[in-house]
Amino acid sequence: MSLRIPLGDSAELVILTDAVLEHFRRYRQLRKRDTEAGGQLFGRIQGQTITIEEATGPRSSDIRSRYSYVPDRKAEQREINERFPSGLHFIGDWHTHPEPIPHPSGTDLDNMRECVNKSRRAISGFLLIIVGTAPQPSGLHASLHNGKDTLLL
Ligand SMILES: [Zn+2]
Repeated sequence: MSLRIPLGDSAELVILTDAVLEHFRRYRQLRKRDTEAGGQLFGRIQGQTITIEEATGPRSSDIRSRYSYVPDRKAEQREINERFPSGLHFIGDWHTHPEPIPHPSGTDLDNMRECVNKSRRAISGFLLIIVGTAPQPSGLHASLHNGKDTLLL
């Protein structure tokens, strides 16, 4: 099973592989004590198709609570640098929310605006996936960020 997400009006298509979807499922905040988890998304780009092959995190150095997730920025940059030579591009971020159908918070939107500085942009925007507690795909929120605008997918 994989999930295909067309990027708005562009011809670009993001494919979330089963391995990535399984990683998301593992960290859903189904129990009261579960804290937010998150990480980065890496993919290969072939023409207009972006296949997300890896979701990293959470890391022991991230700061996590029930309602917040602060990634280790140095570890993030290291992940980007390590993967770039093998053709795995930084595509965006993911994290969980303790709500069935998740929506980005103001902080999430601010972080995505800042994200533009994190890496060269390989596609028309950076992807944000938020993982809620409802089963996939309705429990997944996807949006695309170019530093100014947010496109809901
Ligand atoms: Zn959030």
